[in-house]
Amino acid sequence: MNHTPAKALRNHPTVRRLLDKPPAQAKDTPALEAAWLGKIALEAGAEDVGFVGMERAELAPQREDILRAFPFAKTLLSFVCRMNRENIRAPSRSVANLEFHQSADAVNETGRRIVRTLERHGVRAANTAVGFPMEADRWPAKMWVISHKPVAEAAGLGRMGLHRNVIHPVFGSFILLGTVVLDATVDHESRPIDYNPCLECKLCVGACPTGAIGADGHFDFSACYTHNYREFMGGFADWAETVAASTSASGYRKKVADAESVSLWQSLSFGANYKAAYCLSVCPAGEDVIRPFLEDRKRFIADVMRPLQDKSETVYVIAGSDAEDHVRRRFPHKSARRVRNTLRPTSIRTFLSGLPLVFQPGRAKGLRATYHFRFTGEETLNATVVIHDRTLEVREGLHGQPDFRLTADGKTWLGFLAGEINLVGALLRRKIRFRGAPKLLQAFGRCFPT
Ligand code: SF4
Repeated sequence: MNHTPAKALRNHPTVRRLLDKPPAQAKDTPALEAAWLGKIALEAGAEDVGFVGMERAELAPQREDILRAFPFAKTLLSFVCRMNRENIRAPSRSVANLEFHQSADAVNETGRRIVRTLERHGVRAANTAVGFPMEADRWPAKMWVISHKPVAEAAGLGRMGLHRNVIHPVFGSFILLGTVVLDATVDHESRPIDYNPCLECKLCVGACPTGAIGADGHFDFSACYTHNYREFMGGFADWAETVAASTSASGYRKKVADAESVSLWQSLSFGANYKAAYCLSVCPAGEDVIRPFLEDRKRFIADVMRPLQDKSETVYVIAGSDAEDHVRRRFPHKSARRVRNTLRPTSIRTFLSGLPLVFQPGRAKGLRATYHFRFTGEETLNATVVIHDRTLEVREGLHGQPDFRLTADGKTWLGFLAGEINLVGALLRRKIRFRGAPKLLQAFGRCFPT
């Protein structure tokens, strides 16, 4: 490789101009002033801001991932931008999604402006995506560079409510989060707020068409993902497979209603649209939001929650899921439409880590069993899954006395889950073997419907 000789490099016009200027930032940079950084963030469009050092305990679960993406990271600047409430509350999806899209653009633009200003001051920084696009090549594993919610909590910008969104003490649930990574320490770090703005009113529980938010605190990720995110990654893959499996236009139309095709086209053209997000719409938490709820709770529910509950709409569910039961029981005027689960694991590790996300407590009622899994082949791994009356525990290694033992070649097992390999054939070829009552395997399958 040819290197430019040092003398020639020194005489290059770019280098000469730079050497003539004083350095933008001293080499041993002192901590940046939080007040100065906060002013930059607010001027860039943020409505509140906080700072979290990379060594803080709250970042431990994602520190390694952040440093892998940004080895220079020393501090995270977390900020919020507000969303307009009445748009988010509108039963018309176009009105609500317009606000989601424009608020997301505002967060991305704010992060970009912050970084632009810091670069001018010689501070190395990078802004991260508010939501999408993400690291799609990692699908179905963790696709995002930074989990904004724990950062915002650590930065004192709110706490997670029952609906699993961060609630700002003043702006409530009507916010989107952004994070900027800084190659600098800050003189005054923020601390979490000492109370949760969530009122535990459970309006989000009543508004969610899929029953994803349990009054007991359980969150059914699969139900939320299958319906609300239908037109994001997984739902698109399901639609593409439906197209591939259709042998004619009329065959396709039997499986996909015209309105669904139009809706998907709309998402592909203008940005993926949320199907519900009603948990945000009805949330009365936050100083700026709570007054109408406090003054007349019945009227608030009639004005804000009922129109969403009464709306006739399609709700996407997995066949045999708790969500399917919920729609039929609680919202008989909405139509439950069965779709495939597209959270298909691509490795044994993602299979195990994904189990809590797709577990259906309603289907586990009365089941008490310990399952031992031994996976062989390229990914050798042992795991124990305990289902105990609507609760789930997944641990690596074999623990306790099993009621059911399954030994499987990892690839074959993943192929079976994807619907590509027949279980009976795999049993005959001894690629999958088990010891225990077959009804326990069936019960296991019911807890994780696909
Ligand atoms: S709707 Fe009520 S229970 Fe749900 S997150 Fe908001 S304040 Fe908490």
